[in-house]
Amino acid sequence: MHLSQPFDPKVTEIMKKAQDMGGISQDEAVYLLRLELCSDEAYAVMALANRMSRQSFGGKAERHFHIGLNVEGCVYNCKFCSLTKQAGIFKGSEEFSREQLLAWGKQGQEQGADGLNLMTTGRYSFEKLLEIGAWLSKEISVPLVANTRDITHKEGEALLAHGFQGFYHAVRLGEGKDTPFPVETRIKTLKVITEVGLKWANCIEPVGPEHTPEEIAGLMVLARELGATYSGVMRRINFPGSPLGHHGMINELEMARMVAVSRLVMGDVAKAHCTHEPNTAALMAGANLFFPEVGSSPRDAQSDTGKGRGKDLEACARIFREMGLDPYLPSNCFDQARPPAEPTDTCPSSYNGLP
Ligand code: SF4
Repeated sequence: MHLSQPFDPKVTEIMKKAQDMGGISQDEAVYLLRLELCSDEAYAVMALANRMSRQSFGGKAERHFHIGLNVEGCVYNCKFCSLTKQAGIFKGSEEFSREQLLAWGKQGQEQGADGLNLMTTGRYSFEKLLEIGAWLSKEISVPLVANTRDITHKEGEALLAHGFQGFYHAVRLGEGKDTPFPVETRIKTLKVITEVGLKWANCIEPVGPEHTPEEIAGLMVLARELGATYSGVMRRINFPGSPLGHHGMINELEMARMVAVSRLVMGDVAKAHCTHEPNTAALMAGANLFFPEVGSSPRDAQSDTGKGRGKDLEACARIFREMGLDPYLPSNCFDQARPPAEPTDTCPSSYNGLP
């Protein structure tokens, strides 16, 4: 076995800049995304991202519970999505009942979810989403986050008035090519979200091996510039018959490296750092937010992903605790009144009670 080559001085320089929490540039992020995956430098970047998150988020693990409200063959036919007409997996349309939504919401509340992310397909009624928000926010105290089509200022204000605190939205990789939506429309919505006072939830997604470091880093920097509450990385999951399936999928190690680079870019803007689907490697690279999932999912061929690929709240809590993060601390994402997370250098090696 050989000792590795001398450490790349350019990586040292970028890391020194990143640890001041002021973010790094697109070119610097590209440089890190091009490092040899199992190099000392790549692991050093992951270690730094890990330390930045554990210190700034105070050891908190966030679980934002994804509830997909409806299933249909969506006419927009985004190539990475299983809920499309073209994929042919879901022929009719189905909405989960109010009873079912309430049961999932209560489950989230009882099991300590930090947010409920209500996702719809592209043409779901916006009025209906508002009704559900108003009703659910009276029944459940967990903050609601909408995940739906592009919105106007008026619609953003309506979401706030109907119980929503956040909005998940992203310029997707391949936007305008693998989706019918222009990048400019997406960016306009991102500005609406923050201008009306909704928390903007973001992710660099859905990453596949075909995406270039330049495209990926560009979206990371956009998240920092427009003030995302969180912005980690989600890989594309290929479903049976996926139009992008021939590209393959990135593995969890590659995703962890991207999570780390994104963490360095976000610096002190981030209140949390997400990854999807839940995995251990990303928790050693700066991630602290998982999405447990039920209801519809653009990654699943099951109408209720809770019975398919989706991980439940308890499973996510177990992974976090095994990695020394605490899902039962208060969220850093929503409650303005609570004091900022206590910085900690401690990385626990054990926990009390059951996993
Ligand atoms: S990602 Fe959304 S808009 Fe695109 S096909 Fe899937 S459900 Fe429709």
